[in-house]
Amino acid sequence: METKVFKINPDNIDGTAIVQLRECADIIKRGGLVCMPTETVYGLGANAYDPVAVSNIFKAKGRPSDNPLIVHICNYDMLELIVKDSFLQEGKMTALGDRFWPGPLTMIAPKTSIIPAVVSGGLDTVGVRYPCHPIASALIKLAGVPIAAPSANLSGKPSPTCFEHVKDDMMGRVDAIIDGGDCRVGVESTVLDITGSVPNILRPGAVTLADVKSVIEGSVEADWHLAHGIDASKVPKSPGLKYKHYAPDAPLYIFTATDCQIMVQGICEKIIEEKNKKLSVGVLATDENRDYYKDADMVQSVGSGTNSMEHAAALFTCLRRFDEAGVDVIIAEMLPQTGVGDAVMNRLYRAAAGRVIKLD
Ligand code: AMP
Ligand code: MG
Repeated sequence: METKVFKINPDNIDGTAIVQLRECADIIKRGGLVCMPTETVYGLGANAYDPVAVSNIFKAKGRPSDNPLIVHICNYDMLELIVKDSFLQEGKMTALGDRFWPGPLTMIAPKTSIIPAVVSGGLDTVGVRYPCHPIASALIKLAGVPIAAPSANLSGKPSPTCFEHVKDDMMGRVDAIIDGGDCRVGVESTVLDITGSVPNILRPGAVTLADVKSVIEGSVEADWHLAHGIDASKVPKSPGLKYKHYAPDAPLYIFTATDCQIMVQGICEKIIEEKNKKLSVGVLATDENRDYYKDADMVQSVGSGTNSMEHAAALFTCLRRFDEAGVDVIIAEMLPQTGVGDAVMNRLYRAAAGRVIKLD
């Protein structure tokens, strides 16, 4: 398939950009696939009302069909078409929307029949997001339909946070890619299930548990801890949680210690151990510690030690670079779990698939 590329500056949606976005909107209306930037990661979009177009998303990604897609809207009129009226009347969704939309929050709510089963993986709920990105909102507006979009990576690869990542994974598999530069947040949206009596964060993102609690009276659960294997007795409520996501090709080990020097020391010893086995080693570090890892073949920094926003923006690019370099082993520093740092460590834990080395 021939893939058209449109380069658009999100900070300057001028006449030329509108012409390009109209062409992309026409592709969506005709049942095609368009990769678009959002503030979290790039999405692979299709008309959410068109079951054939949506099924092509799963084919392009190689995604299991029971893993539902997020539906992207650009106003509350669209919300009223896709979420059950009786549920909207309860007011919870709009209260959260008024606080966090447009933005990196996906809410799970009971769906209307206008959303085909292929979008929701057969569930009677739908994940809805109102993105805060000039290109994504303009595209949805011009298409005039909600856009169903998972992250625009091949299944099992880290989510794409810049045009290069999307090009590597999706060229020849979709009708168009919009190059809108780097994604500001860098990790996928917070997924919040609001269908039960207690709201439940199924996936952490830039909208944090504390943020959600500031709007919701009463308790809020955070089921995403299941993804770390903390409570294996529970069944994940989000189909996506049972799949291994965000995995680099090489095995990834997370090193953690309450004393930073002990962690650095442990990583240095692990580098030597792997080098002795003639394996090439990549280290995921912070700016402050990167120079300690001179024996590694490759060191990628996620930024300054305490800046979780920098970590979020850099994480997936670093993981992809390790893949490109073909290192045999990746060793990662434990990163702080404040604010969006919770989401960063969630992605790192999932990439590590249980390989966590605790030193004290
Ligand atoms: P992605 O679009 O690739 O970022 O993945 C979307 C995430 O949202 C996946 O983890 C899905 O399992 C989750 N999700 C989407 N819709 C629903 C839903 N109706 N119920 C539960 N989880 C959902
Ligand atoms: Mg994804």
